[in-house]
Amino acid sequence: MKNKTNYEYLLSDLSSLRGVGTKTKNLLKNKNINNLFDLLWKLPKSYTDRSLSAKIKDLKIGEIQTVNITPQKYNFPRIRKLPNRVVCSDETGEIDFVFFNSYEGYIKKILPLGKEITVSGKVGYFRNKYQMTNPKYVSEDASLIKQTHNKYSLTEGISEKIYNRIMRQIIDNLPVLNEWHSKSILSKFKNISWNSSIKELHKPENIGNYKSNFYQRLAFDEIFSTFLVNSEIRKKIKKIKKKNKVINYNAQNNIINRLDFSLTNDQLKSLNEINKDLCSTSKMFRLLQGDVGSGKTIVSLLAAINTINSGYQVAFMAPTEILARQHFTLAKKIFPKNINIDLISGKSEYKLKKEIHKKLENNKINIIFGTHAIFQKKIIFKKLGLIIIDEQHKFGVNQRKKLSDKGGTNCDVLLMTATPIPRTLTMTIYGDMDISIIREKPKNRKPIKTYSKLEIKIEDVLKFIKKEIKIGNQIFWVCPLIEESKKLDHSSAIKKFRFLNQKFPNQVCLLHGKTNNDEKNQILNNFLKNKFKILVSTTIIEVGIDFPNANVIVIENANKFGLSQLHQLRGRVGRGEIDSTCILMFKSNLSENAKKRIKILKNTNDGFLISEEDMKLRGFGDILGFKQSGIKNFKLADPIHNSDLFLLAEKEMKRIENSNEDIKKFKPLIKLYDRADIINDIA
Ligand code: ADP
Ligand code: MG
Repeated sequence: MKNKTNYEYLLSDLSSLRGVGTKTKNLLKNKNINNLFDLLWKLPKSYTDRSLSAKIKDLKIGEIQTVNITPQKYNFPRIRKLPNRVVCSDETGEIDFVFFNSYEGYIKKILPLGKEITVSGKVGYFRNKYQMTNPKYVSEDASLIKQTHNKYSLTEGISEKIYNRIMRQIIDNLPVLNEWHSKSILSKFKNISWNSSIKELHKPENIGNYKSNFYQRLAFDEIFSTFLVNSEIRKKIKKIKKKNKVINYNAQNNIINRLDFSLTNDQLKSLNEINKDLCSTSKMFRLLQGDVGSGKTIVSLLAAINTINSGYQVAFMAPTEILARQHFTLAKKIFPKNINIDLISGKSEYKLKKEIHKKLENNKINIIFGTHAIFQKKIIFKKLGLIIIDEQHKFGVNQRKKLSDKGGTNCDVLLMTATPIPRTLTMTIYGDMDISIIREKPKNRKPIKTYSKLEIKIEDVLKFIKKEIKIGNQIFWVCPLIEESKKLDHSSAIKKFRFLNQKFPNQVCLLHGKTNNDEKNQILNNFLKNKFKILVSTTIIEVGIDFPNANVIVIENANKFGLSQLHQLRGRVGRGEIDSTCILMFKSNLSENAKKRIKILKNTNDGFLISEEDMKLRGFGDILGFKQSGIKNFKLADPIHNSDLFLLAEKEMKRIENSNEDIKKFKPLIKLYDRADIINDIA
């Protein structure tokens, strides 16, 4: 089974380890540890050095020490509650071992009279004598005790001893893998091999040594493997040849000229990048990234009209029906009358749907809007040339890859997301795509005024809201999100709804986790039509939808949210030209740290900047729920602290792409690190 030059050993099942039975295996599996490789990232948190032994006369009271002793006499009192004692000695003095609640038989077995035994534990002093209470490290074999014993953050049910035994087995059998990195990369880490790095990583004295060569090398391996996989996917997509589109710039500019605003520079730049892709003979697989309200929709619709004018159909998918309908309405408004635009709704009658299917099949519809329903198998496009997907930042690499396969050879793909994230993360998460970024906000935007308020001052907030409602504005009221309990979420939202409904009778509507999709659509639609003034909700209000009248958002228990989340929520208002306000409510006075965070939010409306700060404060896994999105978390690498390694990995990846280097030598790296199993076919 053990083949020390083979990475496959590390992918073997946990039960290949001595001392790991079904129970331990299942406990580890619950922690997402499925093979030996996964265990490599279970690192010691601290350690106890039991390697040096002392003579009894030199023992230091209060410290953990190791002694070699010989048991001399048992002292097992017949009185209950009194502990059992074993008097032991070496040539320099005596020490008692004290046992509470231990059987005599057990004591006699571990401390047999007249034999030399090694014991390790905390030294005490009682009635003029050294003693050790309930020692756990006792053995005739000194080598078992005289080691450093690592402490791990324990998985329930697995003891420190078992962890030490398991980890030692893996480290001792660690395969020596052929080096995959180039000489120049390797020299950046003082030429330390993967095998040595792992060994160093697990030495207890190296805990937290983030700046060391071994740590940096291993972090780099993680980053680089991700980039390499991304690069392979991108290469594969680029290889797909398509018929280039021919853009009618007159038609495009006619639409632009009729808009009641002018496009920002970033919008124009992104549009150009997309147009270039449409005209190329390689398939487009591009992400349009831009903060909430940065104006991505119009850019995508212009790409759509260019595709249509080139003789192709477009499928535009949004996460919700309301958003699909908003985009549909906008397209009807700005596209020339001869363009056939349609919308598939879940609620459309069967007959109508059937008709739409037929029209799509006969190329009678140029662009279709809808939710994921537009990708049902039974829907066949005559000549699909572009798929646009709005607000799907939670699509993982796998889902995206499936998407790029969809639509056939001549079909380009454009994804849009309103989650600005730092560049290092973008490279990691969206590295399989080309990326266009809209950083600039439309010029007519007024900054959203952001305030913080203590909850006891709620009357002030109500007064403010009353005034806003009077002049025709609408309000979002976001209730505390209590992640641990959906039930609590639910009841807090209902309570708040009742409370507000008393103050503003018949003007309040409610959305919570238990509202089903149809109801949700209905409620959001009513709110859009201004039938209610206040929308109370727990669930994050759907991204992307334009609520032109909503200009105030109140966020309760704001400390429950990360900065990026607060920024996203805040982005639901302030899209129009009216003044808008975000009120962050807190239960108690803010800590200094919290004040610092809120200040960032008050001072800037740049989502990219905020996400960068957020990541510094909370780590990257947490921002915007990427954890749940199936995007793998790095074990060592950190996009903030290792940004230099991310840049180095990007450079190396580009070098390999440009040199057409064979990537076979990276096979072990990819096989070990890539959970997605995307490139199985790397020989
Ligand atoms: P998002 O990027 O969040 O999808 P939208 O495309 O929904 O943003 O745009 C938000 C609002 O901004 C829309 O009402 C849109 O008409 C408007 N808008 C888009 N581009 C501009 C611009 N260059 N100048 C002014 N308003 C714009
Ligand atoms: Mg949008």
